[in-house]
Amino acid sequence: MIPVTTLRDKKVALFGLGGSGFATARALMAGGADVTAWDDNPDSVMKAAAEGIPTADLRQIDWSVISVLVLSPGVPLTHPRPHWTVDLAHAAGIDIIGDVELFVRERRAHAPGCPFIAITGTNGKSTTTALVAHILRSSGRDAQLGGNIGTAILTLEPPKAGRFYVVECSSYQIDLAPTLNPSAGILLNLTPDHLDRHGTMQHYAHIKERLVAGSDIAIVGVDDSFGALIADRLERAGSKVTRISRRQVLANGFYAEGSRIIMARGGTGSEIANLDGIQTLRGSHNAQNAAAAIAACLAVGVSAAEITAGLKSFPGLKHRMQPVGRRGRVVFVNDSKATNADAAAPALSSYDRIYWIAGGLPKEGGITSLAPLFPRIAKAYLIGEAAPAFAATLGDAVPYEISGVLERAVMHAADDASKDDSPLSAVMLSPACASFDQYKNFEVRGDAFVSHVAALDGITMLIDSATGDK
Ligand code: ADP
Repeated sequence: MIPVTTLRDKKVALFGLGGSGFATARALMAGGADVTAWDDNPDSVMKAAAEGIPTADLRQIDWSVISVLVLSPGVPLTHPRPHWTVDLAHAAGIDIIGDVELFVRERRAHAPGCPFIAITGTNGKSTTTALVAHILRSSGRDAQLGGNIGTAILTLEPPKAGRFYVVECSSYQIDLAPTLNPSAGILLNLTPDHLDRHGTMQHYAHIKERLVAGSDIAIVGVDDSFGALIADRLERAGSKVTRISRRQVLANGFYAEGSRIIMARGGTGSEIANLDGIQTLRGSHNAQNAAAAIAACLAVGVSAAEITAGLKSFPGLKHRMQPVGRRGRVVFVNDSKATNADAAAPALSSYDRIYWIAGGLPKEGGITSLAPLFPRIAKAYLIGEAAPAFAATLGDAVPYEISGVLERAVMHAADDASKDDSPLSAVMLSPACASFDQYKNFEVRGDAFVSHVAALDGITMLIDSATGDK
């Protein structure tokens, strides 16, 4: 745990008692802050009180003695409308911050030289974060991995010389971290997402820009117009900017040419890494993630040889285009995280011959946007509530069956793929749907896929089917 010493003896109001809220309350208390915590959910308040966290309804307290409001990132700061605690904090004229801000203050106070890589973007955050941490760890460095990726940042080990921090930041976390100052900041890409919480695309982009604007080195994906403008703007303001691209040749920066990652300086490029044969980094979206990770690792002193070794042994993330098993020329891929058509597109683009398992609880728009990728699909196996609608969209373009449930889909797809004589084909769960009609969440759906694959005759599992790890 990272005790928050920068608020010692101060009165702190904390709202939001989910997982990271508990961790934050404990870290504040360990550092000597006087915490009063609350949540709109009475069960969470009771649980906190039972664990010794002081609680009180923040509507009833004296705000004139409070130094700061610490908010969970899930709580609306601006859109669709500020949470009532935000109004109270504004009326009292105090700062509103989150756990990432508490971390950056601790780092500045105790070990400002600790390399700190922060990652944001609309897509690819977790992959890039995990990849950077993996490269650092596999080269023998102490890398602390946390933030939006699932481990609350204040549960990590405290900052000390030689320790690296790799932190995934959502827009909400950036919004609550006014002095965020990573050694290397990555902004991967920007497309409309979560606009319900951010109002406009401009506002969303502006928040994301803050992460790189505060960085010693700003690593910015320039394939979308927002990223390109941000890179130009930061450079004009005197920041050190490294551009990355999966689509264009850059005079300066890191770009992908097929599976090769090129490092360019002054118009001259040379290959810094090759992703060919790395199953966990297939697809041009992953080339973007890898280019950003490479740029960040070089920026904090990792050698090209260490980076190459780390890329090769990257185990990938569970449920995201994860190769889980192999039988002959067929690879079985778990992409259960793809809960809408946009998220399924990269996976469908990454293999030429696909036995595609799709369906679940349908999202607006269905799979019509995936039509350009239909020629890659040898056959589709449709499950869940979306099956009839998906069948209608596939029409005569793609052979399909309505399998209904995942187990049958896996068995039939595996059978059909075993008769395919292409050099490589994929049986892939990339559902383009939420899971809630048949499963608790996408993780449970992905785990079910893995266990159905593990039950096939003659399968070689590429991961531990009990834990999902490599
Ligand atoms: P995030 O943490 O931003 O949600 P993940 O790394 O968990 O992103 O990846 C989730 C899904 O997003 C992947 O399965 C893939 O389909 C897609 N994806 C990953 N990286 C990118 C990228 N750089 N650009 C576009 N889509 C991506």
